[in-house]
Amino acid sequence: MSTTRRIVRLAARGVRELQPYVPGKPVEELEREYGVRDAIKLASNENPLGPPQGALQAIRQLADQVHFYPDGGGFRLRHALAERTGTRPEQVVLGNGSNDVLVLLAEAFLSPRSEAVYSQFAFLVYKLAVQATGATARVAAANRPDHPQPLGHDLAAMRALVNSRTRLVYIANPNNPTGTWLETGELRRFLEDMPPQVLVVLDEAYAEYAAGAGDRTSLRWLDDFPNLVITRTFSKIYALAGLRVGYAIASAPVAELLNRVRQPFNVNSIGQVAALAALDDPDHVARSRQLNAAGLSQLRDGLAALGVSTAPSAGNFVLADLGQPAGPCYQALLRAGVIARPVGNYGLPNHLRITVGLPGQNQRFLDAMRPALAAGA
Ligand SMILES: *Cc1c(COP(=O)(O)O)cnc(C)c1O
Repeated sequence: MSTTRRIVRLAARGVRELQPYVPGKPVEELEREYGVRDAIKLASNENPLGPPQGALQAIRQLADQVHFYPDGGGFRLRHALAERTGTRPEQVVLGNGSNDVLVLLAEAFLSPRSEAVYSQFAFLVYKLAVQATGATARVAAANRPDHPQPLGHDLAAMRALVNSRTRLVYIANPNNPTGTWLETGELRRFLEDMPPQVLVVLDEAYAEYAAGAGDRTSLRWLDDFPNLVITRTFSKIYALAGLRVGYAIASAPVAELLNRVRQPFNVNSIGQVAALAALDDPDHVARSRQLNAAGLSQLRDGLAALGVSTAPSAGNFVLADLGQPAGPCYQALLRAGVIARPVGNYGLPNHLRITVGLPGQNQRFLDAMRPALAAGA
């Protein structure tokens, strides 16, 4: 047996079978590999407006303080988040991106004898987080393609997979990569129907796009359901993806358990002050929402004109069904300097996910798309 295989066998079973997450291709890598210039990336659901000015200022101001460790308790940011969300600081857990808290939840609550439920075509991090713990994943069949929320979560199918071993249910609302969402009433009924020993993780990475930053509907449910965990992020509408700041809001005992497993300094000092400043710039959020709504229409209409159908989306991206394998189209787009996101790793080999960019970037994608589609046909 080769050394590599011998060493791989030393890893925990869940880890041995992990397939690492494949991120969107960075612009610099495309330019290096393809010799193109002025490439654009519409592949990672980043905010095309860039970070809010106040965040930039806060980052500059703190730059000469980075020899100090961050505040491990994230006091100011947790208090600000509690105030905005109508919760208490002891309910807020900060993460190195919300990805971090999604993984902490699995670490804290799953073991090889327990189970977790999520939907087919749900955000891939759930699968990775569950698998690494050795727990069993129960994957619910998604809505059919002709459903009003095509390929979205089917809550009844998810509920049917919950049993006495279930500890976690992951729900993305809206979901990435499908863009689909759940109605308030059906979500509420799902929570009412859930046994109390099952934690329901409601991943709201795109909540501020879908419902607006002031919406507190799901947050109010925290008072009724101590098994509800809501996760949010500064990576999407707040435009700080590179700084890695996210958070969970839960009942205080759940938050306290998560704080036991997290690294003492999981959110860096620059991220903390930038996030705090971003919270203080509601105009940036409003402009981002507006730009996104217009961009979604531009992409959906432009794609429809090319004969490509898209699912409705409550996020800052669209999922396009090319009706043919997406690989050649993706490659042709790359040669034209446009990075979209293939989603074959989600079991969607005929789809591409496109992030809403600035109007000119959306147009450049649409212009490149016509010949790219022909390249794949
Ligand atoms: C982007 C995304 C996240 C997390 O992003 P972070 O940068 O780790 O905060 C979580 N859930 C969904 C559904 C996402 O699309």
